[in-house]
Amino acid sequence: MSFDPAAATKAYIDALGPEALAKAADYTRGSEWLSFWGVVVAGLVTYLFVRLRILDRIDAKLGKRGFALRTFLVCAAFLLLSAIVTLPWDLYTGWWRETAYGRTSQPLGDYLGQGAIGLVIGVLLGALFFLGIYALIRRAGKRWWIWSGGLAAAAISLILLLAPVVIEPLFNDYKPVPAGPVRDALVVQAKEAGIDPGRIYMFDGSRQSNNFTANVSGLGHSARIAISDVALKGASLDEVKAVTGHEIGHYVLGHVWIIVIVFSLLAVLLFFLADRIFPRVARAFGSDAGIGDPRGFPVLMFLLSLFAFLAQPVLNTLSRTDESAADAYSLQTVNLPDALASALVKTAEYRSPRPNAVEEFVFYSHPSVERRVRAAMEWKAAHPPVETPAPE
Ligand SMILES: [Zn+2]
Repeated sequence: MSFDPAAATKAYIDALGPEALAKAADYTRGSEWLSFWGVVVAGLVTYLFVRLRILDRIDAKLGKRGFALRTFLVCAAFLLLSAIVTLPWDLYTGWWRETAYGRTSQPLGDYLGQGAIGLVIGVLLGALFFLGIYALIRRAGKRWWIWSGGLAAAAISLILLLAPVVIEPLFNDYKPVPAGPVRDALVVQAKEAGIDPGRIYMFDGSRQSNNFTANVSGLGHSARIAISDVALKGASLDEVKAVTGHEIGHYVLGHVWIIVIVFSLLAVLLFFLADRIFPRVARAFGSDAGIGDPRGFPVLMFLLSLFAFLAQPVLNTLSRTDESAADAYSLQTVNLPDALASALVKTAEYRSPRPNAVEEFVFYSHPSVERRVRAAMEWKAAHPPVETPAPE
């Protein structure tokens, strides 16, 4: 009997069982709604800060300070205070709901402790970035928003460069993969792709999440491949090879540079639009601040979260293209379509494998697992194994 990719795909997905499929669909649909409600929450926070004139008061207290310090402190104050105000929302979406769905086993104390570290980093870097934006508005004239693309590119590159060295070690423990067959296999794969095998790590991803995951982070010399202990524990050797092939694909195909370019172009568009509509939106919230006035920062942040929500289909479509390319790279280099498929099925618990077309287009950063498994099975059909086929 000849191999039927459609039937093989169906078998992989159906093997999850109707209950797990229903739960995954429920979780995924809920997450999609949360991204919408996140914009509503941002709007409420902006309304609260504008009506209570919180930044006006802080700004008045800083009256005699210079532009840079004053702007930095006003932005930092908003980032910090708004995070505190939205803590219940963050606890619900980031911890309670994740725990309820079995996606995390992180104790609340650890979640809050790590959240505090993340908040400090976010406040400092965020306030610095927006100090740059306000400086551009002051100095660069009417077309300041063109320069925001350069600022965004510099900021994203800096964060990508620093992330594996400075930021990620604050949250997880990164170690070389221990000696053994897994390490041997990964070293061969890394060498083939021209990657220093010293840059393949495992990390205690289980601390935050039960998700089966791996990632590439960093730029240039700081770039590295990291595999979560969840993936290493729950996977066969072939599955680890297939997943690592996918991650090496991102690395070799330079997807990180696509991210830098796309986000920078998006920043230009976003700040251009913000420049045009800011006065009307600010008035709607009851603020008299102009776009160059840090007292209007909450309004600018609301516009940012609205644009980020609306830009999802564009960003996700680009991301899905890269993910398909990385899958293809894994198939071409490692040629383990069944291992890739069974590893992908393990990610279907938190990304419903059978979304409808609109859902996938708008919200999915990866093609649906069904689509990805199907691509692997099509590859398998086109590249029949030379020896005896692997047992089913
Ligand atoms: Zn990927």
